[in-house]
Amino acid sequence: MPDLTTCSNCSEEVTTDSDFCPHCGYLFKEAPVVHCERDFNQEASGVCIICQKVVCPRCREVRNHRLFCIEHKDVLVQENWALVFESRDVVDVELMKSYLDANGIQALVQNMGMRARSRGSARVFVPIPEYLPAKKTLEEVA
Ligand SMILES: [Zn+2]
Ligand SMILES: [Zn+2]
Ligand SMILES: [Zn+2]
Repeated sequence: MPDLTTCSNCSEEVTTDSDFCPHCGYLFKEAPVVHCERDFNQEASGVCIICQKVVCPRCREVRNHRLFCIEHKDVLVQENWALVFESRDVVDVELMKSYLDANGIQALVQNMGMRARSRGSARVFVPIPEYLPAKKTLEEVA
C-alpha cells in the first residue's frame, strides 16, 4: 500500500505517489510539468476531477476548491458525489437508478422537496469517478 498524505488544498487523503489530488484536481508541486490538453503551449495548473484532463488556468473553473475543465464546469457536485440525472418524475429517477445499479454503478437518489408537492424534483448522484461511465449508461437507455 502506498503511503498516505493530506492534500494541501482540500485536506483529503491522497497517496504520496500521486501527481495530483483526485478530490480537488490540485496539481502537486513535485509533479512533472505538464501542458494543457487544449493549448499545448500553456502549462497546466490542475486536473479536472470529472474527466482527469490536465488544464491551464484559462481552461478551467474552480468551484468550492475543486477544479473542473470547461466541458464539466456545470456538473453539480456535492461532497464526493456528482449529479447525473434530475427529474420531477420520481418513477423516471428510480428507473435511472436501476439502470445504473444494473451496470454496477452505485447511485444515490436525493429527493428535493417531494413532500411539498409543488416543484419537487429528485436527483441521482454517483461517486465522482463514476460520472462519465454513468452518463454513458444513461445516454444508452435514453
Ligand atoms: Zn485536494
Ligand atoms: Zn472535465
Ligand atoms: Zn488551457
